Amino acid sequence: MAKKKSAVGNELMTSDRVYDVAVIGGGASGCMAACAASENGARTLILEANDRVGRKICATGNGRCNLTNLHVDENCYHTGGGEDLSAFFARFSVQDNLRFWESKGVYLHDRNGYVYPRTDQASTIAEAFDKLLRAAGTEIITGIRVKDIEQTEGREGKVFRIVTNEGSHCFAKKVILAGGGAAGPQYGSDGSLYEIARSLGHTVNKPLPALVPLVSDDKDLKAAAGVRCDAKITLVCGEKSFRAERGELQITQTGISGIPVFQISSQASRALDEGKKVCAQIDFLPDFTDQMWEAEKERRLSEDRNCMLGVFFLGLVNRKVLALLLRKRELQAEKKASKVDEDTLISIMQDMRSFKVRVTGTGGFEQAQVTTGGIPLSQTDENLMSVRCSGLYLAGELLDVDGICGGYNLQWAFTSGWIAGKSAAGERSGGK
Ligand SMILES: Cc1cc2nc3c(=O)[nH]c(=O)nc-3n(C[C@H](O)[C@H](O)[C@H](O)COP(=O)(O)OP(=O)(O)OC[C@H]3O[C@@H](n4cnc5c(N)ncnc54)[C@H](O)[C@@H]3O)c2cc1C
Repeated sequence: MAKKKSAVGNELMTSDRVYDVAVIGGGASGCMAACAASENGARTLILEANDRVGRKICATGNGRCNLTNLHVDENCYHTGGGEDLSAFFARFSVQDNLRFWESKGVYLHDRNGYVYPRTDQASTIAEAFDKLLRAAGTEIITGIRVKDIEQTEGREGKVFRIVTNEGSHCFAKKVILAGGGAAGPQYGSDGSLYEIARSLGHTVNKPLPALVPLVSDDKDLKAAAGVRCDAKITLVCGEKSFRAERGELQITQTGISGIPVFQISSQASRALDEGKKVCAQIDFLPDFTDQMWEAEKERRLSEDRNCMLGVFFLGLVNRKVLALLLRKRELQAEKKASKVDEDTLISIMQDMRSFKVRVTGTGGFEQAQVTTGGIPLSQTDENLMSVRCSGLYLAGELLDVDGICGGYNLQWAFTSGWIAGKSAAGERSGGK
């Protein structure tokens, strides 16, 4: 993997050499952009704050890198302005993504549509990028953070002057901003490129954490902390209910987590920011149809109640979940069912199908996998070139595009990176 090129790097960064394309950020979108630019003949430089490219990639998919999904479609994404992404995916699709890797000798496999490298090691993708970039002649400078970019008049027309935190600089005809959003700052993406984009004429839709645990101020939840169970979760924001998500729910000390929670978190994050009341409605028995459930309730209520509540409700939900539902009524599992009125028993069973968790916040950016918000897509053209600063391109999570969990965000990073890289290189020689 690329290590910090101090000596060489500093020399590159103080010369008057003008690169065709400079890519700021060596994450998923930046590496793909640099590959596309280099492979299209552009003299390309990557500047990366970490000591190697692809550091966040190594953390993706629980270390396995879920790099795309065979079921990607535009409905799996949120864009700030409701922009249609289909034209971008038509230019670099899921199939193009699969072909890209397999043509480079990185074999893949899928589990129910979720695609991973054959090795099941995310580092394979990061290391493959490093290898591909070097083979394509991309210059990689790591361990350096870009702090300012300005467009100036050079000998050959307008060029960008890129200044680093070390005070060194370099020049490029085209710049691709690929510094990611604000999610996962521990992997290098600290949102610093929002400021640079602003200085070049862009606005930024408020970045918020997404694919993130949800926080609740409901102290009773702690009674079920540690539970992992199959559940269906419906997000309710104000008066509006969203599509239910099913999967493994995790109840934590501070709220709820797990894939179905991640899937609703982007909408929850924005609704909370708008000051709406947000609630997650949990169905702990998602396999029951309404008819089956009515029959089950009847059966339980007609049984002998001369037993503890824990026994009366046995076999329906996790013991800790039952403790939580009972706690809401100041009851304990040891109490005799016969001592509890029928309406209360019915309401406990109703809660098993639609327990409402008040959502009062989200985890922070350190816990988030992506950012919802960012630079509006409407401020770029079909090649992802800025419509506010000619020669500037934007890619990846920096843009106000976020997908659901399951390979969708890396697909966007690769799609947008490839389009920006190829376009930046193509325009150098007079367009695509
Ligand atoms: C733990 C975790 C797991 C995830 N798992 C998956 C998954 O399995 N599948 C999926 O599709 N998505 C996953 N994601 C989301 C996915 O990783 C991101 O959406 C994607 O990496 C975004 O790519 P990017 O290139 O836009 O930004 P990033 O990957 O964040 O890369 C940005 C790069 O720019 C660099 N940088 C930032 N500012 C500067 C600067 N000023 N100067 C120089 N360099 C700079 C950063 O160091 C960083 O390397 C996961 C995210 C996390 C945090």
